Amino acid sequence: MPTVQPISSAVAVLKHRRALQNRLLNWFDSRTRDLPWLVDRTPYQVWVSEIMLQQTQMATVIEYYQRFILEFPSVQRLAVAPIAKVLKCWEGLGYYRRARQMHEAAQWIVATNGGRFPTQIDSLLTLPGIGKYTAAAILSISLEQRHPILEGNTIRLFSRLIGLQDDTSASTAQKQLWQFSESLLPSKRIGDFNQALMDFGREVCKPQNPVCDHCPISKYCSAFSLGLQNVIPFRAKRTQFVELREAIVVIRRRNSILLRQCTNTQRWAGLWDFPRFDLHRVAVRHYLQQAVQRSTGLTTRIENLNITIKHAVTRYRITLECFQAKTVSGRLHRGSQFQWKTRQELDELPLNASARKFADQLDTLR
Ligand code: SF4
Repeated sequence: MPTVQPISSAVAVLKHRRALQNRLLNWFDSRTRDLPWLVDRTPYQVWVSEIMLQQTQMATVIEYYQRFILEFPSVQRLAVAPIAKVLKCWEGLGYYRRARQMHEAAQWIVATNGGRFPTQIDSLLTLPGIGKYTAAAILSISLEQRHPILEGNTIRLFSRLIGLQDDTSASTAQKQLWQFSESLLPSKRIGDFNQALMDFGREVCKPQNPVCDHCPISKYCSAFSLGLQNVIPFRAKRTQFVELREAIVVIRRRNSILLRQCTNTQRWAGLWDFPRFDLHRVAVRHYLQQAVQRSTGLTTRIENLNITIKHAVTRYRITLECFQAKTVSGRLHRGSQFQWKTRQELDELPLNASARKFADQLDTLR
């Protein structure tokens, strides 16, 4: 593999900075984008969109964003909302920690900053869930402040442009990429330029099969000139996924269903779930009857529903087998996390994604 000196490549690429800026902005202007958070571009709206866009596709975010802004049109309204309502609005987007941190940040802004959204990068960086990229994106897109950005799409684009043959998560590579991002910023239209970089990385300089043959900046691209566009960026070893098998049980009593609110230290903190158990036994029904009895205090008769739901949470790949149980006797343990909820309450409570998938099938089971 040819050796590339990325620092000298960065210097060489930056000699064409003006041409790169113009071509990227022209490409950006040639597309019609109808994104709701770009209509008013207030720091609050850009913040909501940026947090939602972490780990979620843009097409999915649009609908969630519109619903969220309708429900919580200002930082003040978000701050005073019950967390359950915020989580309900977030239901299905996943990574619920994002919603909890936004709620905390909104409360902090109202309590200590008079409800004014911070417009200094150092203040923004003290808020939960806001890192260097998010703070820079909010302030550059909403207020045209001069801050460089670096996230997945721009890491890939810059690494290819400067021919970076190093693990992009290494601190030296990160430092170099941040410097490159800063050096590339134009003097005007900072927000548009930062968005152009991200969109270009997502749509043209894609992870697989980048569209080099139609790329307006290919003549400045080190990876393309070396034929390394499908090799760069280099990454450290990918995440190893852990396979888990779990059981979920719907336990009914008259018109009620037994649910549990996950505590702050548990997966899906603040959301609701059906009774759920690790499944590593062969005598599944007998094991579940004992597990239900131990955790709830109820004696039940368990029946396999032959429904399997596959879902993923962070590095876990979970196969969820679904059961239903009839209560034979017993009372809930005193102070139990479990509560009886009506079918309507089940629809209104924020559930984790796999529990919601299961809940959606309940009416067909009776
Ligand atoms: Fe990306 Fe290819 Fe364009 Fe280089 S030439 S910036 S690798 S799309």
